[in-house]
Amino acid sequence: MTDPGRANPADEPDIPYYWQSVDWPKLMADYPPPPHFARTTGRLSAEALRELQNKRFLARVGEAWAVPFYRDRWHAAGLQPGDIRSLDDIDRIPIFNSDDLKEAIAVAPPFGNHHPIGRADFGRVPLKIQTSGGTTGLPRITLFDPIAWEVQGIQVARALYAQGARPGDIIQIPYTNSLANAAWCAYTAAHHWLGCVAATTGSGLVTPTERQIDYARAWGTNLWFARGEYLGRIAEVAAEIGFDLRELPTKFLHSYLGPDVDGVVRKRLEAAWGVPVYDNYGSHEVGLIAWECQACEHKHISEDTVFCQLVGVDDGLALPEGDVGNLVVTSLHRSVPPFIRYNLRDLMTLFPHATCSCGLATRKLSTFLGRSDEMVKLRGTNVYPLACQTTIVSDSRTTGDFLCVAAYRGEGLGRRENLTVRIERRSAEIDGAILAEDMRRALHRDLGAKVDVEIVEAGTLAPITRMGGEGKVRRLLDLRK
Ligand SMILES: [Zn+2]
Repeated sequence: MTDPGRANPADEPDIPYYWQSVDWPKLMADYPPPPHFARTTGRLSAEALRELQNKRFLARVGEAWAVPFYRDRWHAAGLQPGDIRSLDDIDRIPIFNSDDLKEAIAVAPPFGNHHPIGRADFGRVPLKIQTSGGTTGLPRITLFDPIAWEVQGIQVARALYAQGARPGDIIQIPYTNSLANAAWCAYTAAHHWLGCVAATTGSGLVTPTERQIDYARAWGTNLWFARGEYLGRIAEVAAEIGFDLRELPTKFLHSYLGPDVDGVVRKRLEAAWGVPVYDNYGSHEVGLIAWECQACEHKHISEDTVFCQLVGVDDGLALPEGDVGNLVVTSLHRSVPPFIRYNLRDLMTLFPHATCSCGLATRKLSTFLGRSDEMVKLRGTNVYPLACQTTIVSDSRTTGDFLCVAAYRGEGLGRRENLTVRIERRSAEIDGAILAEDMRRALHRDLGAKVDVEIVEAGTLAPITRMGGEGKVRRLLDLRK
C-alpha cells in the first residue's frame, strides 16, 4: 500500500487538457467558421443541406437512446431504436420543453437525467456549467463539452462576420461572463474564431454605463455585442453627459432586439448610434440559432448546427413554413447533452431555403413574435404581453419598461382573467392620468382587447422585469397560478 499522502505519480489521473480534447481541423471542417462557412456549408443546395442534416440528426438520435431522459420518453411514445430512419420521421419523436428539463433535474439532482455523463465522468473531459431561467428554485443546468462550447462560438462568429466584423476589430461586450451564455459566446467568437479583440467589460453593474462609454472612446471600440435595452441605456447616458455616440468608430451593433416587430427599437438605436443594428436569436441550450446578415431580410439559420421546425401552440403538431407557431429545435452538433425536438415556446415563422443577396443559402427565421407561454386569454382574445412593447417604447413619456400582471377578477361564474399593464413614466412631471388614458386606448388597438393601465415611477419595475440585468427581460407576472 502506498501512503495516500504521497501518491505515486504513475497513479495520478490524466488531466484532460482542453487543447487536446478537440480535433481542431475536424471541428473546422465539420462546422466551418468564417470565412470558410460562406464558401462551403453556408451555400449548400437544399438537397445537399438536407443530406448533411440527416446524417447529423441520425447520429444525435443514436446517442440520445443512451440517455434516460430521451429513452424513457421515446419508449413511452411507442418508439424503438431503429424506428427513426431519417429526418422524414422526426415528427414521430415527442417534443419537450423547459418544464421537462426542470423535471429531469428534479428526478436526478443536481445535474439531471438528460446528460449522457454524470458526476463520475467529470475530470475525463473538460466541462463547463451554464444555466438558464431560475426565477424560483435552482436554475436549469446544461453542461457544455468542448464541442458544444466551441460550436456556439463558431455560430456567433459566422453572424458577426456576415454583419461586417473583421480581424483586428475591437468588440466591447457589456455582459457579465457568468452562468448565462451570451458573454461567453461573444468572447469565444471574437477570440477563438474571428481574430477580433474582445473587451469583456461586464454589464452596467460591473462597469457603469458612463465608464463603458469612456472605454469605448479611449480604446476605439468599433463593434458592440449587447442587448437592445442596454444599447438604449448607453444612448440615454451619452445624451445625459452630452456625448454624441456617432463620434465613435462603430461599424455596427450586434444585438438581441426581441419582439421588435415594427422595427421601432432598431430605428431608435440606429438614430442614436448612427450605424446599422443587426438582430440575432438564440437559446441557452442550442446556441445562436439565427442571425441577420447585412441584407436584414429575416435571419439566416445556422442550418448545420440546428434543425428548426414549427408546431402549433395548442396541439404541438408540425406546421408548414410560413405559418406562425412555436419554434422546435434539434441540435445537430450537441452530444453533451443532446437536444432533440426541444420546444422553445417562442413564436416564429420560417421561410424556405433560398439564396440571399449576401450569397448565403439557408432557410430563414422571422423576428421573434412573442412567448407562447406568456399568453393570456382575455374574453376569447389571445394576448401576448410583448405585443405592448412597440406602443410603450415609442412613447417618449415612458422609460420603455413595463410589466403585464395577469390575475383573476371576480368569483365563480363571473370570474374573469384580467390584465393590468404597469408602465413607468420617465419623470414625475409627466401627467400620469393623461398617459394612462393614451396607453389604454393604444393598447386596446394593438392587443384587440381592453386592459387596465397603471402608471408607476421610473426604475420601480426593474426588480421584476430584470430590465438592464442579465438574461431575458420578463414582461408577465402571472398571478393566476
Ligand atoms: Zn444574407
